Amino acid sequence: MKPIRAWAAVWCLSITGAALAQGRPHVHGVAQLDIAIETGKITLQLETPLDSLLGFERAPRGVAETRRVETAVAALKAAGVLFRFTPTAGCAVASVDLSSAALKLGSPGPAEQREGHADLDATYVFNCTDVARATEVDVGLFDAFIRMQSLKVEVATAKGQFKRDLKRPSKRVSLVR
Ligand SMILES: [Zn+2]
Repeated sequence: MKPIRAWAAVWCLSITGAALAQGRPHVHGVAQLDIAIETGKITLQLETPLDSLLGFERAPRGVAETRRVETAVAALKAAGVLFRFTPTAGCAVASVDLSSAALKLGSPGPAEQREGHADLDATYVFNCTDVARATEVDVGLFDAFIRMQSLKVEVATAKGQFKRDLKRPSKRVSLVR
């Protein structure tokens, strides 16, 4: 029976992890930004209510709203404008992935749309020639999205994890504890 029990424990842990990941509060104006610093690369995961990007949380209706979505998507794809790391770290954009059920972007999970609210997830990967020099990042989200008021930032490095709150009009996030 022991192997089965061990398997069950792992299964429970993974379910709990998934539930926690999806259980973050949906607060208009507040976005979550997870920054993971590894050898040679930095991965940023942004999770934001669509309202903070668009002022609505559904598929666009009409020309004006469609334009607004196009502008927001273009701004979200401009990773080098949204995230400027310490220049000596030599970080360059490797990939950008956007995911939103309401906007039919990417491949969103089933929990993306709930009770009239909708989120957008974005994943950014930067490759860095000297990642140890990336001691701070200037975040351009408040410039690009007037409705976004604050960012809950979680930084994970080889030396540990810590949290930062970034509130408009601040831009700079320290990546060292
Ligand atoms: Zn909402």
